[in-house]
Amino acid sequence: AGLVAPLVAGLAAAVVLGLMVVMLNQHFRRLRALTGYLGRLRRAGDDSPLPGAPSGGDLLSPGLSEAIAETAREQRERRHDLEDTMALNAAVLAGLPDPLILVAENRRVLRLNPAAEALLGHDLAGRDLALVVRNPALLAAVDAVLEGGEQESVEFAIPGKVERAMAARVLRLPGAARESASVMIALYDLTGVKQSERMRADFVANVSHELRTPLTSLIGFIETLRGPAREDAEAQDRFLKIMEEQSHRMSRLVDDLLSLSRIELQEHTAPSSQSDIEPILRSVASTLELEAARRGMRIEIAAEALPPVIGVRDELTQVFQNLLDNAVKYGEDNTVIRVAARRLARGGAGERRLGRAGVKISVTNEGEGIEREHIPRLTERFYRVDSRRSRRLGGTGLGLAIVKHIINRHRGVLEIESRPDEGATFSVYLPSAAEAAAALATPRAS
Ligand code: ADP
Repeated sequence: AGLVAPLVAGLAAAVVLGLMVVMLNQHFRRLRALTGYLGRLRRAGDDSPLPGAPSGGDLLSPGLSEAIAETAREQRERRHDLEDTMALNAAVLAGLPDPLILVAENRRVLRLNPAAEALLGHDLAGRDLALVVRNPALLAAVDAVLEGGEQESVEFAIPGKVERAMAARVLRLPGAARESASVMIALYDLTGVKQSERMRADFVANVSHELRTPLTSLIGFIETLRGPAREDAEAQDRFLKIMEEQSHRMSRLVDDLLSLSRIELQEHTAPSSQSDIEPILRSVASTLELEAARRGMRIEIAAEALPPVIGVRDELTQVFQNLLDNAVKYGEDNTVIRVAARRLARGGAGERRLGRAGVKISVTNEGEGIEREHIPRLTERFYRVDSRRSRRLGGTGLGLAIVKHIINRHRGVLEIESRPDEGATFSVYLPSAAEAAAALATPRAS
Protein backbone atom coordinates (compact mmCIF):
# COMPACT_ATOMS: atom_id res chain seq x y z
CA ALA A 1 0.00 0.00 0.00
CA GLY A 2 3.10 2.15 -0.12
CA LEU A 3 3.27 2.53 3.70
CA VAL A 4 6.69 0.82 4.09
CA ALA A 5 9.58 1.03 1.79
CA PRO A 6 9.86 -2.24 -0.25
CA LEU A 7 13.39 -2.89 1.06
CA VAL A 8 12.31 -2.61 4.70
CA ALA A 9 9.25 -4.79 4.02
CA GLY A 10 11.43 -7.36 2.29
CA LEU A 11 13.90 -7.36 5.19
CA ALA A 12 11.08 -7.65 7.77
CA ALA A 13 9.53 -10.57 5.86
CA ALA A 14 12.96 -12.30 5.67
CA VAL A 15 13.49 -11.86 9.45
CA VAL A 16 9.98 -13.20 10.27
CA LEU A 17 10.47 -16.18 7.93
CA GLY A 18 13.92 -16.87 9.43
CA LEU A 19 12.52 -16.79 12.97
CA MET A 20 9.65 -19.06 11.94
CA VAL A 21 12.09 -21.57 10.43
CA VAL A 22 14.12 -21.59 13.65
CA MET A 23 11.02 -22.01 15.82
CA LEU A 24 9.43 -24.68 13.65
CA ASN A 25 12.71 -26.56 13.37
CA GLN A 26 12.94 -26.72 17.18
CA HIS A 27 9.33 -27.85 17.36
CA PHE A 28 9.81 -30.59 14.80
CA ARG A 29 12.97 -31.82 16.57
CA ARG A 30 10.99 -32.12 19.80
CA LEU A 31 8.23 -33.97 17.97
CA ARG A 32 10.79 -36.36 16.43
CA ALA A 33 12.37 -37.01 19.84
CA LEU A 34 8.93 -37.63 21.33
CA THR A 35 7.91 -39.95 18.47
CA GLY A 36 11.17 -41.87 18.90
CA TYR A 37 10.61 -42.23 22.64
CA LEU A 38 7.00 -43.38 22.24
CA GLY A 39 8.16 -45.84 19.57
CA ARG A 40 10.73 -47.29 22.01
CA LEU A 41 8.07 -47.53 24.72
CA ARG A 42 5.74 -49.40 22.38
CA ARG A 43 8.46 -51.85 21.48
CA ALA A 44 8.83 -52.37 25.24
CA GLY A 45 12.01 -53.04 27.09
CA ASP A 46 13.08 -49.37 27.19
CA ASP A 47 13.09 -48.23 30.75
CA SER A 48 14.88 -44.86 30.12
CA PRO A 49 13.11 -41.73 31.37
CA LEU A 50 11.52 -39.18 29.07
CA PRO A 51 14.46 -37.48 27.31
CA GLY A 52 15.03 -33.72 27.63
CA ALA A 53 14.50 -31.38 24.72
CA PRO A 54 17.33 -31.58 22.18
CA SER A 55 18.08 -27.96 22.87
CA GLY A 56 18.02 -28.40 26.67
CA GLY A 57 15.08 -27.97 29.08
CA ASP A 58 11.81 -29.91 29.09
CA LEU A 59 10.75 -31.71 25.96
CA LEU A 60 7.15 -30.64 26.46
CA SER A 61 5.33 -28.48 28.91
CA PRO A 62 6.09 -29.77 32.48
CA GLY A 63 2.49 -31.08 32.99
CA LEU A 64 2.48 -33.07 29.75
CA SER A 65 5.99 -34.48 30.37
CA GLU A 66 4.92 -35.75 33.76
CA ALA A 67 1.73 -37.30 32.41
CA ILE A 68 3.69 -39.16 29.73
CA ALA A 69 6.36 -40.26 32.22
CA GLU A 70 3.63 -41.53 34.62
CA THR A 71 1.89 -43.44 31.82
CA ALA A 72 5.21 -44.98 30.80
CA ARG A 73 5.93 -46.01 34.42
CA GLU A 74 2.50 -47.62 34.78
CA GLN A 75 2.95 -49.44 31.52
CA ARG A 76 6.34 -50.76 32.67
CA GLU A 77 4.84 -52.01 35.95
CA ARG A 78 1.96 -53.68 34.14
CA ARG A 79 4.39 -55.35 31.78
CA HIS A 80 6.46 -56.68 34.69
CA ASP A 81 3.30 -57.94 36.44
CA LEU A 82 2.26 -59.67 33.25
CA GLU A 83 5.68 -61.28 32.86
CA ASP A 84 5.57 -62.47 36.49
CA THR A 85 2.09 -63.94 36.02
CA MET A 86 3.15 -65.68 32.82
CA ALA A 87 6.26 -67.12 34.50
CA LEU A 88 4.09 -68.33 37.42
CA ASN A 89 1.53 -69.91 35.06
CA ALA A 90 4.30 -71.62 33.11
CA ALA A 91 5.80 -72.97 36.37
CA VAL A 92 2.38 -74.22 37.57
CA LEU A 93 1.74 -75.95 34.22
CA ALA A 94 5.21 -77.51 34.24
CA GLY A 95 4.83 -78.71 37.83
CA LEU A 96 1.42 -80.36 37.38
CA PRO A 97 1.77 -84.13 37.61
CA ASP A 98 -1.24 -84.69 35.32
CA PRO A 99 -0.95 -84.16 31.57
CA LEU A 100 -2.38 -80.89 30.21
CA ILE A 101 -2.81 -79.82 26.58
CA LEU A 102 -3.77 -76.34 25.33
CA VAL A 103 -5.51 -76.28 21.97
CA ALA A 104 -6.27 -73.30 19.67
CA GLU A 105 -9.57 -72.49 17.90
CA ASN A 106 -8.37 -74.30 14.75
CA ARG A 107 -7.71 -77.46 16.86
CA ARG A 108 -3.95 -77.08 16.64
CA VAL A 109 -1.96 -77.99 19.72
CA LEU A 110 -0.44 -74.87 21.26
CA ARG A 111 1.30 -76.24 24.28
CA LEU A 112 1.78 -79.40 26.36
CA ASN A 113 3.10 -79.57 29.90
CA PRO A 114 6.00 -81.97 30.62
CA ALA A 115 3.59 -84.67 31.92
CA ALA A 116 1.68 -84.55 28.60
CA GLU A 117 4.97 -84.68 26.66
CA ALA A 118 6.04 -87.72 28.66
CA LEU A 119 2.76 -89.42 27.75
CA LEU A 120 2.36 -88.35 24.11
CA GLY A 121 5.82 -87.35 22.89
CA HIS A 122 7.87 -84.20 22.32
CA ASP A 123 7.70 -81.46 19.64
CA LEU A 124 3.96 -81.80 19.12
CA ALA A 125 3.10 -78.09 19.32
CA GLY A 126 1.59 -76.79 16.08
CA ARG A 127 0.17 -80.14 15.01
CA ASP A 128 -3.50 -80.92 14.61
CA LEU A 129 -4.82 -82.56 17.79
CA ALA A 130 -6.09 -85.50 15.71
CA LEU A 131 -2.46 -86.45 14.96
CA VAL A 132 -1.44 -86.18 18.62
CA VAL A 133 -4.29 -88.10 20.29
CA ARG A 134 -5.90 -90.43 17.80
CA ASN A 135 -9.03 -91.00 19.76
CA PRO A 136 -12.44 -90.24 18.24
CA ALA A 137 -14.18 -89.78 21.62
CA LEU A 138 -11.68 -87.18 22.80
CA LEU A 139 -11.65 -85.36 19.46
CA ALA A 140 -15.46 -85.25 19.42
CA ALA A 141 -15.41 -83.76 22.95
CA VAL A 142 -12.87 -81.10 21.88
CA ASP A 143 -14.95 -80.27 18.78
CA ALA A 144 -18.09 -79.95 20.91
CA VAL A 145 -16.34 -77.44 23.19
CA LEU A 146 -14.84 -75.54 20.24
CA GLU A 147 -18.32 -75.26 18.77
CA GLY A 148 -19.61 -73.54 21.88
CA GLY A 149 -19.92 -76.15 24.63
CA GLU A 150 -18.64 -75.25 28.10
CA GLN A 151 -17.01 -78.54 29.08
CA GLU A 152 -16.99 -82.25 28.30
CA SER A 153 -15.69 -85.35 30.11
CA VAL A 154 -14.66 -88.57 28.37
CA GLU A 155 -12.85 -91.78 29.21
CA PHE A 156 -10.66 -93.45 26.63
CA ALA A 157 -7.67 -95.77 26.24
CA ILE A 158 -4.21 -95.04 24.88
CA PRO A 159 -2.95 -98.23 23.24
CA GLY A 160 0.65 -99.30 23.77
CA LYS A 161 2.75 -102.00 25.37
CA VAL A 162 0.71 -101.37 28.50
CA GLU A 163 -2.66 -99.93 27.57
CA ARG A 164 -3.42 -96.84 29.64
CA ALA A 165 -6.95 -95.97 30.74
CA MET A 166 -7.39 -92.19 30.73
CA ALA A 167 -10.07 -89.72 31.75
CA ALA A 168 -10.14 -86.33 30.02
CA ARG A 169 -11.86 -83.09 30.96
CA VAL A 170 -12.15 -80.65 28.08
CA LEU A 171 -12.73 -77.05 29.19
CA ARG A 172 -13.34 -73.84 27.25
CA LEU A 173 -10.89 -71.12 28.27
CA PRO A 174 -12.42 -67.67 28.86
CA GLY A 175 -11.78 -64.71 26.51
CA ALA A 176 -9.69 -66.72 24.09
CA ALA A 177 -8.48 -64.67 21.14
CA ARG A 178 -7.48 -66.07 17.75
CA GLU A 179 -4.11 -67.85 17.90
CA SER A 180 -4.36 -68.20 21.69
CA ALA A 181 -5.51 -71.22 23.66
CA SER A 182 -9.26 -71.79 23.37
CA VAL A 183 -9.54 -75.18 24.98
CA MET A 184 -7.71 -76.96 27.77
CA ILE A 185 -7.58 -80.76 27.92
CA ALA A 186 -6.77 -82.08 31.39
CA LEU A 187 -5.91 -85.78 31.38
CA TYR A 188 -5.99 -88.10 34.36
CA ASP A 189 -4.42 -91.57 34.32
CA LEU A 190 -7.00 -94.10 35.51
CA THR A 191 -4.90 -97.23 34.80
CA GLY A 192 -3.99 -97.83 38.46
CA VAL A 193 -7.53 -97.13 39.68
CA LYS A 194 -9.09 -99.46 37.10
CA GLN A 195 -6.56 -102.16 37.91
CA SER A 196 -7.27 -102.01 41.63
CA GLU A 197 -11.04 -101.97 40.94
CA ARG A 198 -10.61 -105.14 38.90
CA MET A 199 -8.42 -106.72 41.58
CA ARG A 200 -10.97 -105.90 44.26
CA ALA A 201 -13.78 -107.39 42.20
CA ASP A 202 -11.67 -110.51 41.48
CA PHE A 203 -10.79 -110.79 45.14
CA VAL A 204 -14.42 -110.67 46.28
CA ALA A 205 -15.36 -113.21 43.61
CA ASN A 206 -12.52 -115.50 44.74
CA VAL A 207 -13.38 -115.26 48.43
CA SER A 208 -17.05 -115.92 47.69
CA HIS A 209 -16.11 -118.92 45.58
CA GLU A 210 -13.75 -120.30 48.26
CA LEU A 211 -16.43 -119.98 50.94
CA ARG A 212 -19.30 -121.19 48.81
CA THR A 213 -17.84 -124.65 48.17
CA PRO A 214 -17.53 -125.73 51.84
CA LEU A 215 -20.80 -123.97 52.69
CA THR A 216 -22.67 -125.81 49.94
CA SER A 217 -21.29 -129.11 51.15
CA LEU A 218 -22.19 -128.28 54.78
CA ILE A 219 -25.78 -127.41 53.80
CA GLY A 220 -26.01 -130.63 51.75
CA PHE A 221 -24.77 -132.78 54.63
CA ILE A 222 -27.10 -131.11 57.14
CA GLU A 223 -30.05 -131.87 54.85
CA THR A 224 -28.89 -135.48 54.46
CA LEU A 225 -28.41 -135.90 58.21
CA ARG A 226 -31.91 -134.62 58.87
CA GLY A 227 -33.42 -136.70 56.06
CA PRO A 228 -32.14 -139.93 54.54
CA ALA A 229 -29.29 -140.48 57.04
CA ARG A 230 -31.41 -139.73 60.13
CA GLU A 231 -31.15 -143.33 61.39
CA ASP A 232 -27.77 -144.27 59.85
CA ALA A 233 -25.17 -143.95 62.62
CA GLU A 234 -22.27 -144.97 60.40
CA ALA A 235 -23.15 -142.40 57.69
CA GLN A 236 -23.69 -139.75 60.36
CA ASP A 237 -20.19 -140.33 61.65
CA ARG A 238 -18.69 -140.09 58.19
CA PHE A 239 -20.66 -136.96 57.29
CA LEU A 240 -19.86 -135.21 60.56
CA LYS A 241 -16.17 -135.82 59.92
CA ILE A 242 -16.42 -134.20 56.49
CA MET A 243 -18.45 -131.34 57.97
CA GLU A 244 -15.77 -130.79 60.57
CA GLU A 245 -13.09 -130.65 57.84
CA GLN A 246 -15.12 -128.18 55.80
CA SER A 247 -15.72 -125.97 58.86
CA HIS A 248 -11.99 -125.98 59.60
CA ARG A 249 -11.33 -125.05 55.99
CA MET A 250 -13.64 -122.04 56.24
CA SER A 251 -12.11 -121.06 59.54
CA ARG A 252 -8.57 -121.26 58.04
CA LEU A 253 -9.70 -119.16 55.11
CA VAL A 254 -11.15 -116.48 57.40
CA ASP A 255 -7.96 -116.54 59.54
CA ASP A 256 -5.77 -116.14 56.45
CA LEU A 257 -7.96 -113.33 55.11
CA LEU A 258 -7.72 -111.50 58.42
CA SER A 259 -3.92 -111.97 58.54
CA LEU A 260 -3.61 -110.69 55.01
CA SER A 261 -5.67 -107.56 55.60
CA ARG A 262 -3.85 -106.83 58.88
CA ILE A 263 -0.44 -107.15 57.23
CA GLU A 264 -1.50 -105.07 54.24
CA LEU A 265 -2.56 -102.27 56.57
CA GLN A 266 0.87 -102.26 58.22
CA GLU A 267 2.93 -102.92 55.11
CA HIS A 268 4.21 -99.35 54.74
CA THR A 269 5.58 -99.19 58.31
CA ALA A 270 8.72 -101.26 58.74
CA PRO A 271 8.93 -103.14 62.07
CA SER A 272 11.26 -101.76 64.72
CA SER A 273 11.71 -104.79 66.99
CA GLN A 274 14.49 -107.37 66.71
CA SER A 275 14.09 -111.13 66.50
CA ASP A 276 16.39 -114.14 66.55
CA ILE A 277 15.72 -116.39 63.60
CA GLU A 278 16.99 -119.75 64.85
CA PRO A 279 14.52 -120.18 67.76
CA ILE A 280 11.68 -119.24 65.38
CA LEU A 281 12.79 -121.92 62.88
CA ARG A 282 13.10 -124.56 65.61
CA SER A 283 9.71 -123.81 67.10
CA VAL A 284 7.97 -123.88 63.68
CA ALA A 285 9.74 -127.15 62.81
CA SER A 286 8.62 -128.76 66.04
CA THR A 287 4.96 -127.88 65.42
CA LEU A 288 5.13 -129.49 61.97
CA GLU A 289 7.24 -132.51 62.97
CA LEU A 290 4.28 -134.78 63.58
CA GLU A 291 2.62 -133.97 60.26
CA ALA A 292 5.96 -134.51 58.48
CA ALA A 293 6.57 -137.80 60.26
CA ARG A 294 3.16 -139.01 59.14
CA ARG A 295 4.53 -138.84 55.58
CA GLY A 296 7.91 -140.24 56.49
CA MET A 297 9.52 -136.80 56.22
CA ARG A 298 12.16 -135.24 58.41
CA ILE A 299 12.91 -131.52 58.91
CA GLU A 300 16.62 -130.69 59.20
CA ILE A 301 17.79 -127.27 60.32
CA ALA A 302 21.32 -126.00 59.62
CA ALA A 303 21.79 -122.55 61.15
CA GLU A 304 25.09 -120.66 61.43
CA ALA A 305 25.57 -118.17 64.23
CA LEU A 306 23.11 -115.61 62.93
CA PRO A 307 22.81 -111.94 63.79
CA PRO A 308 19.35 -110.86 64.96
CA VAL A 309 17.10 -109.47 62.25
CA ILE A 310 14.69 -106.56 62.28
CA GLY A 311 11.36 -108.27 62.59
CA VAL A 312 8.22 -109.10 64.47
CA ARG A 313 8.48 -112.60 65.92
CA ASP A 314 4.84 -113.57 65.27
CA GLU A 315 4.99 -112.43 61.67
CA LEU A 316 8.29 -114.17 60.96
CA THR A 317 6.85 -117.29 62.60
CA GLN A 318 3.96 -117.12 60.15
CA VAL A 319 6.36 -116.80 57.18
CA PHE A 320 8.30 -119.95 58.09
CA GLN A 321 5.14 -121.77 59.21
CA ASN A 322 3.61 -121.22 55.75
CA LEU A 323 6.81 -122.14 53.89
CA LEU A 324 7.44 -125.31 55.92
CA ASP A 325 3.77 -126.23 55.77
CA ASN A 326 3.96 -126.04 51.95
CA ALA A 327 7.18 -128.09 51.94
CA VAL A 328 5.40 -130.80 53.92
CA LYS A 329 2.25 -130.55 51.76
CA TYR A 330 3.92 -130.53 48.35
CA GLY A 331 7.12 -132.45 49.15
CA GLU A 332 7.60 -136.12 48.33
CA ASP A 333 6.96 -138.81 50.96
CA ASN A 334 10.02 -140.16 52.81
CA THR A 335 12.32 -137.27 51.95
CA VAL A 336 14.15 -134.64 54.00
CA ILE A 337 13.06 -130.99 54.20
CA ARG A 338 16.15 -128.83 54.62
CA VAL A 339 16.13 -125.47 56.32
CA ALA A 340 19.42 -123.56 55.90
CA ALA A 341 20.07 -120.19 57.53
CA ARG A 342 23.23 -118.18 57.02
CA ARG A 343 24.60 -114.66 57.18
CA LEU A 344 24.94 -113.02 53.74
CA ALA A 345 28.56 -112.68 52.57
CA ARG A 346 29.90 -109.09 52.55
CA GLY A 347 29.59 -107.69 49.03
CA GLY A 348 28.18 -110.98 47.71
CA ALA A 349 25.26 -111.53 45.34
CA GLY A 350 22.81 -112.06 48.22
CA GLU A 351 23.74 -108.76 49.86
CA ARG A 352 23.39 -106.98 46.52
CA ARG A 353 19.99 -108.60 46.09
CA LEU A 354 18.83 -107.36 49.49
CA GLY A 355 20.64 -104.03 49.19
CA ARG A 356 22.16 -104.30 52.68
CA ALA A 357 23.68 -106.76 55.13
CA GLY A 358 21.37 -109.52 56.24
CA VAL A 359 20.59 -113.21 56.49
CA LYS A 360 19.22 -115.78 54.07
CA ILE A 361 16.93 -118.60 55.16
CA SER A 362 16.09 -121.30 52.61
CA VAL A 363 13.45 -124.00 52.86
CA THR A 364 14.04 -126.82 50.37
CA ASN A 365 11.87 -129.81 49.71
CA GLU A 366 12.17 -132.63 47.22
CA GLY A 367 9.22 -133.42 45.03
CA GLU A 368 7.57 -132.64 41.76
CA GLY A 369 8.54 -128.97 41.87
CA ILE A 370 6.87 -126.12 40.04
CA GLU A 371 6.82 -125.35 36.30
CA ARG A 372 8.68 -122.16 35.40
CA GLU A 373 5.64 -120.22 34.16
CA HIS A 374 3.84 -120.54 37.51
CA ILE A 375 6.68 -119.22 39.68
CA PRO A 376 6.12 -115.45 39.24
CA ARG A 377 2.40 -115.85 40.05
CA LEU A 378 2.63 -118.07 43.16
CA THR A 379 2.42 -115.11 45.55
CA GLU A 380 -0.85 -113.84 44.01
CA ARG A 381 -3.86 -114.43 46.19
CA PHE A 382 -5.63 -117.70 45.45
CA TYR A 383 -3.12 -118.63 42.75
CA ARG A 384 -2.51 -122.37 42.81
CA VAL A 385 -0.76 -124.66 40.36
CA ASP A 386 -3.30 -127.38 41.05
CA SER A 387 -6.39 -126.06 42.84
CA ARG A 388 -7.96 -129.45 43.59
CA ARG A 389 -4.77 -130.76 45.10
CA SER A 390 -4.26 -127.61 47.18
CA ARG A 391 -7.84 -127.80 48.53
CA ARG A 392 -7.54 -131.51 49.23
CA LEU A 393 -4.41 -130.79 51.26
CA GLY A 394 -6.23 -128.07 53.20
CA GLY A 395 -4.66 -125.08 51.38
CA THR A 396 -6.38 -121.72 51.18
CA GLY A 397 -4.27 -120.33 48.30
CA LEU A 398 -3.29 -117.40 50.51
CA GLY A 399 -0.19 -118.79 52.26
CA LEU A 400 2.43 -117.36 49.89
CA ALA A 401 0.53 -114.06 49.49
CA ILE A 402 0.81 -113.64 53.27
CA VAL A 403 4.52 -114.58 53.13
CA LYS A 404 5.17 -111.98 50.43
CA HIS A 405 3.39 -109.18 52.28
CA ILE A 406 5.18 -109.91 55.57
CA ILE A 407 8.55 -109.98 53.79
CA ASN A 408 7.74 -106.72 52.01
CA ARG A 409 6.92 -105.14 55.33
CA HIS A 410 10.28 -106.37 56.68
CA ARG A 411 12.03 -104.83 53.63
CA GLY A 412 13.20 -108.32 52.71
CA VAL A 413 13.18 -110.39 49.52
CA LEU A 414 11.47 -113.69 48.66
CA GLU A 415 13.16 -115.88 46.06
CA ILE A 416 11.56 -119.00 44.59
CA GLU A 417 13.66 -121.54 42.71
CA SER A 418 12.28 -124.77 41.38
CA ARG A 419 12.76 -127.29 38.65
CA PRO A 420 10.09 -129.81 37.74
CA ASP A 421 10.73 -133.21 39.36
CA GLU A 422 13.53 -131.86 41.53
CA GLY A 423 11.65 -130.00 44.24
CA ALA A 424 11.54 -126.38 45.30
CA THR A 425 13.53 -123.89 47.36
CA PHE A 426 11.89 -120.85 48.92
CA SER A 427 14.50 -118.37 50.22
CA VAL A 428 13.87 -115.41 52.47
CA TYR A 429 16.39 -112.54 52.71
CA LEU A 430 16.02 -110.34 55.79
CA PRO A 431 18.05 -107.27 56.81
CA SER A 432 20.09 -107.78 59.97
CA ALA A 433 19.33 -105.62 63.00
CA ALA A 434 22.94 -104.44 63.42
CA GLU A 435 22.88 -102.99 59.93
CA ALA A 436 19.65 -101.11 60.62
CA ALA A 437 21.02 -99.76 63.92
CA ALA A 438 24.20 -98.59 62.18
CA ALA A 439 22.15 -96.89 59.47
CA LEU A 440 20.19 -95.05 62.15
CA ALA A 441 23.35 -94.03 64.02
CA THR A 442 25.12 -92.65 60.94
CA PRO A 443 23.57 -89.35 59.95
CA ARG A 444 22.57 -89.41 56.32
CA ALA A 445 24.54 -87.02 54.10
CA SER A 446 22.14 -84.38 52.80
P1 ADP B 1 -1.89 -123.15 49.20
O1 ADP B 1 -2.80 -122.91 50.32
O2 ADP B 1 -2.61 -123.59 47.96
O3 ADP B 1 -0.74 -124.02 49.54
P2 ADP B 1 0.04 -121.07 48.88
O4 ADP B 1 -0.15 -119.62 48.63
O5 ADP B 1 0.77 -121.47 50.11
O6 ADP B 1 -1.39 -121.71 48.82
O7 ADP B 1 0.78 -121.69 47.64
C1 ADP B 1 0.31 -121.39 46.34
C2 ADP B 1 0.64 -122.54 45.38
O8 ADP B 1 2.05 -122.63 45.21
C3 ADP B 1 0.23 -123.88 45.88
O9 ADP B 1 -1.12 -124.16 45.58
C4 ADP B 1 1.17 -124.81 45.12
O10 ADP B 1 0.65 -125.04 43.83
C5 ADP B 1 2.44 -123.98 44.97
N1 ADP B 1 3.48 -124.32 45.98
C6 ADP B 1 3.72 -123.69 47.14
N2 ADP B 1 4.76 -124.24 47.78
C7 ADP B 1 5.18 -125.28 47.02
C8 ADP B 1 6.22 -126.27 47.14
N3 ADP B 1 7.03 -126.29 48.18
N4 ADP B 1 6.36 -127.15 46.13
C9 ADP B 1 5.54 -127.13 45.07
N5 ADP B 1 4.55 -126.23 44.90
C10 ADP B 1 4.37 -125.31 45.85
